Amino acid sequence: MTYISHLECPKCQRSYAPFRPNNTCQCGAPLLVRYDLDDMGRGISRREIKKRPPGMWRYREFLPVAREENIVSLGEGSTPMLTAGRLGKALGLEHLQIKDEGLNPTGTFKSRGASCGISRCKELGIGKIAMPTAGHAGGAWSCYAARAGIEAFIAMPVDAERVAMLECVLSGAKTWLVRGLISDAGRMISKAAAKYEWFDVATLKEPYRIEGKKTMGLEIAEDFDWGAPDVVIYPTGGGVGLIGIWKAYQELIQMGWVKDKPPKLVAVQAEGCMPIVRAYQEGKESSEFHTGAKTFAGGIRVPKALGDFLVLQAIRETGGTAVAVSDEEIMEGVKLTALTEGMFICPEGGAAIAAARRLVQTGYIQPEDKVVILNTGAGIKYPDIVRPELPVLNPDEEIVL
Ligand SMILES: *Cc1c(COP(=O)(O)O)cnc(C)c1O
Ligand SMILES: [Zn+2]
Repeated sequence: MTYISHLECPKCQRSYAPFRPNNTCQCGAPLLVRYDLDDMGRGISRREIKKRPPGMWRYREFLPVAREENIVSLGEGSTPMLTAGRLGKALGLEHLQIKDEGLNPTGTFKSRGASCGISRCKELGIGKIAMPTAGHAGGAWSCYAARAGIEAFIAMPVDAERVAMLECVLSGAKTWLVRGLISDAGRMISKAAAKYEWFDVATLKEPYRIEGKKTMGLEIAEDFDWGAPDVVIYPTGGGVGLIGIWKAYQELIQMGWVKDKPPKLVAVQAEGCMPIVRAYQEGKESSEFHTGAKTFAGGIRVPKALGDFLVLQAIRETGGTAVAVSDEEIMEGVKLTALTEGMFICPEGGAAIAAARRLVQTGYIQPEDKVVILNTGAGIKYPDIVRPELPVLNPDEEIVL
């Protein structure tokens, strides 16, 4: 079923066999999955894929799992590409679409990475996984681990979203709260993983999460009739989603399934945590640790990403850009989207809306450009970002406008 050929280091080009558990390359860089794309092109057609039922596993040939019985799925993928006419008008865009990842099983696109990653763990006989998380990845991986009968060990910041903590606890993951950032949790998990022989599935420390997230790119291409929008705007933390979309287009173009150029990839970060934006602005190939990271958009509160050099490469090679927005602008983005489209998006999605507004103002985006914004998660995973101030009535009072 899979056309996986090997794992490759994008930094030093070393290659590894894909038949046993792998973390990063000897040089420390993340490993990417490579496929025999010629064989794949002969084995599967676009028409055949079109006929399959919805869900990300309809692209199973593009994914690394060899045996169907190892697939661990909760129905992730095939999220809607919604036309956002009223929001577009408010932002000055004629062709705005929002791909709503909030409809995934755990309420964020992290379901995709977890489904693929946990399936591969099952296939490789891994029984215990461990990860640091800002929240949603831990929630997703512990749910999929439970479904696979795999034990999960998770560490997250004390101020992570409560809903994500509940996902971990209810699905039976051993969960720790850390008085610090995801980077602190990462150091602690890495040490414990070595001690207890847990498989460390931190962002880009194993090669399969990105393959699941790649399916967002495959779906965008299919939604554009095997083509591409002009611009894709993506809230960027670890950068896995953005690298995944880029990788999807590279594979589709190499197979000849997509003739267009890949979309311009725009990375959005919060002003309180903008390592990638800073590196992009300074023309650097990798980012510096952002000290004192602070934003209420937890999914993009990542002070230093292992795959930063790949994100920067993806931005530059596609003619994209990197933008930082303030927490106030993020909140305005969330409110405006609910007001104009009835969509309760997550703060990270709100950041992408704010970035779109900014890029129209600067002229980077033209009004007639086809723009896709990724809403990476559901607003209901952040039940406390708005405190409604509402009139409270006694039962004998009359409602007056
Ligand atoms: C994890 C997360 C992000 C950032 O995704 P990366 O692929 O790590 O850049 C954005 N939004 C939400 C809701 C997330 O959970
Ligand atoms: Zn290497």
